[in-house]
Amino acid sequence: MQPSFTRSEYDYIFSGVGCAGISLLLHILQEPELQGKKILLIDSVNKSENDRTWCYWEETSGFLENLVYHQWTSLVFHSDKKTIPLNIAPYKYKMIRSIDLYDYARNVTQKRTKVTWKTATVTNAVNENGLAFVVADGVKYTAQYIFNSVIFEKNKKAFEQDNCYKFLQHFKGWVIETKQPIFNPNEATFMDFRVGQEQGATFVYVLPTSTTKALVEYTFFNETLLDKTAYDTLLKDYLKQYWNLEAFTIVENEYGIIPMTNHRFQSNEGNVINIGTAGGWTKASSGFTFQFIQKKTYALTQALVKEKAPIIKKKFSDYFFDLYDATLLNVLVNEKMSGKDIFYQLFSKQKPKTIFRFLDNESSLREDLKILNSVPTLIFLPAALSEIFASVKKRLFASRFILF
Ligand SMILES: Cc1cc2nc3c(=O)[nH]c(=O)nc-3n(C[C@H](O)[C@H](O)[C@H](O)COP(=O)(O)OP(=O)(O)OC[C@H]3O[C@@H](n4cnc5c(N)ncnc54)[C@H](O)[C@@H]3O)c2cc1C
Repeated sequence: MQPSFTRSEYDYIFSGVGCAGISLLLHILQEPELQGKKILLIDSVNKSENDRTWCYWEETSGFLENLVYHQWTSLVFHSDKKTIPLNIAPYKYKMIRSIDLYDYARNVTQKRTKVTWKTATVTNAVNENGLAFVVADGVKYTAQYIFNSVIFEKNKKAFEQDNCYKFLQHFKGWVIETKQPIFNPNEATFMDFRVGQEQGATFVYVLPTSTTKALVEYTFFNETLLDKTAYDTLLKDYLKQYWNLEAFTIVENEYGIIPMTNHRFQSNEGNVINIGTAGGWTKASSGFTFQFIQKKTYALTQALVKEKAPIIKKKFSDYFFDLYDATLLNVLVNEKMSGKDIFYQLFSKQKPKTIFRFLDNESSLREDLKILNSVPTLIFLPAALSEIFASVKKRLFASRFILF
């Protein structure tokens, strides 16, 4: 059936209103120059559940500081070799619950007559003859810019056909409550690698928010998802073995799959601007996305304020970080070195600050060299060279198509 096209004009349409959409919206709404903009927000669900928890590190108070649910000043890293306390100063490791962001966005927009929320499924976002539009529940809506965070079938197909790494970070988390105080709410377990490594890099986060409450997350970096009940068994065994904990109440669950890939997500198609994971803002080697969303949505808003196209151009240094990410994926996918040993070497040899800056794509070349020095050259150098070669080959292949 053909969609019944009804024209509707907006300045901005948000196709998908999750972390990236809301972060961008909140930035836009606080800019005096953008106050009068007519905005349509479309999401397939009404965002009434706490469907994920975001953790990230930050030096100062950030844009969403009022939503921070908990923060830690110190972290700890465990491997079977050693436990390493991580002094993360000047950073703090912070947690935001998604429901707080969703509720906040609803509250902020309640009195904004120019902002409309719509619950509908977007099936396409297109730029055609200079016009950007989305199709949602069969209806066409046009706008000057579409900010899209939906991964459509066409994007999934391009991803499947691409000869790229298709690693996944998958995890299940429980928020548990105990009767006895057993957690230290000032210290979070960043990565506990003492668990079995038979299925690739496997570790657990323990994020206590009080002495009796913590989010415990069992995480894998590999290509194969587990049966949902398998994560539960692993979580139960972990809590028993390492926390001597058998009696607890599960108050919340979270399950997530984050792509770890060197696939080049298209940043925009004309005035359809892809944002968030759909825009390739997820760090390929770590899955961290939250802070990239914060930085990039701020940059997009500043472009809108200056009446420039809200398109983020890659910096020269970004190509280096892409190479580092692809190199790590190369090493992990080809099992040249275990994730457990790589992270152990990093955390035992480098200051957390240097590692965080590296993971934020903010490190200097000197800091990059320090990081590269922490891992075995004989493994990482050939992996890096093979990634450079693969990338040049891909580019040459692509340019052949442009020429002919
Ligand atoms: C459980 C979980 C925990 C995570 N924790 C962290 C973390 O601690 N730190 C970190 O840095 N990153 C984390 N991430 C990665 C990343 O930060 C999140 O996935 C983040 O939400 C990505 O933002 P986004 O806007 O791209 O996608 P989303 O937040 O998923 O937003 C996309 C929106 O599009 C909507 N949508 C999808 N399809 C359609 C459609 N066809 N039509 C209309 N609407 C649609 C969805 O309902 C959703 O609201 C986590 C991811 C998950 C899944």
